[in-house]
Amino acid sequence: MKAAPFDYLLAHDLDEALNHLEQYGADAKLIAGGQSLVPMMAMRLARPEWLVDINRLQSLKRIDVLDNKVHVGAGVRQRDIEFHAQVHVALPLVKQALQWVGHQQTRNRGTVGGSLVYADPSSELPLSALLLGATFYLESKSEGSRQVQAQDFFLGPMFTSVGETDCLTGIDFPIWSGGKIGCAFEETAIRRGDFAMASAACQLQLDDSQRIVRLSFGLGGMDGTPRVFPDLAQGLLGQTLAQVDIHDLSALAVAQCEPGGDMHASAQYRRHLARVLLPRVIQQAHQHALSSSINVLS
Ligand SMILES: Cc1cc2nc3c(=O)[nH]c(=O)nc-3n(C[C@H](O)[C@H](O)[C@H](O)COP(=O)(O)OP(=O)(O)OC[C@H]3O[C@@H](n4cnc5c(N)ncnc54)[C@H](O)[C@@H]3O)c2cc1C
Repeated sequence: MKAAPFDYLLAHDLDEALNHLEQYGADAKLIAGGQSLVPMMAMRLARPEWLVDINRLQSLKRIDVLDNKVHVGAGVRQRDIEFHAQVHVALPLVKQALQWVGHQQTRNRGTVGGSLVYADPSSELPLSALLLGATFYLESKSEGSRQVQAQDFFLGPMFTSVGETDCLTGIDFPIWSGGKIGCAFEETAIRRGDFAMASAACQLQLDDSQRIVRLSFGLGGMDGTPRVFPDLAQGLLGQTLAQVDIHDLSALAVAQCEPGGDMHASAQYRRHLARVLLPRVIQQAHQHALSSSINVLS
């Protein structure tokens, strides 16, 4: 199929883009990399009357690696993060996650902000942003600037707190520091590059006695939004991994999810995958932390 007719507006700066959104409201859509929006339009699942192109907005293309966070402009291409040496060190989980996102060709065009706003429940960047506790920066003509924390950003499948006149301008990803930090990201998809049937991610930090002092883990594709389990993670602090039954822990996490079934995987199979993937990433993150004598940006 071909897209329904639309008009194209090239924004030269953020103000111009916001003005277009304010004027056309629900009839307009921002286009960033187009890797999700264009297929949706081609299938006529999206029918914007106005496409507002934000690819020329240099203010959305900054990557700033600071002491305790990395600020990523919403318009930064996924590939630019994937190959950013400082981001590798500062946000190893994001680097790992990106290797599962689509294909080299889609990552060349697809933006970090586009992926987060599209908010597919199986998407890797939303899970990573939630797990790390990212902060989202939104801008609109009527509401001005506002910040939304990751736990309030993802509201449902392909549904976020980004309103129809909002532009996501950037995201802050917190940097963990202090030594012995490890992370892992794993998923199962029908083919490499497809959206995951289920995914799991973990980042943890150990002290000198190998006790867990910081832990965050989560699942993708298992609910309407990515899921993290701060209460379960909290219960493990102060313990070594040998003292924890990670299979029981994973079963508790999976029991909190309500996966759907579709042509790719039944709900039961998704639960099975999550129970396999979650212990695996916890174990891998632990190994990674044990082998990391360097800390992240200290
Ligand atoms: C073959 C293929 C395989 C893929 N596999 C995966 C995968 O495994 N995992 C994965 O996560 N993704 C996958 N994707 C999707 C890809 O990651 C997209 O890049 C991403 O979902 C959207 O980013 P984009 O920049 O292309 O956004 P666009 O397609 O341009 O926009 C997506 C949506 O976000 C909105 N939007 C974009 N930028 C902003 C902004 N700054 N502020 C407000 N709204 C905004 C748009 O209006 C639109 O509604 C795949 C895509 C393809 C084509």
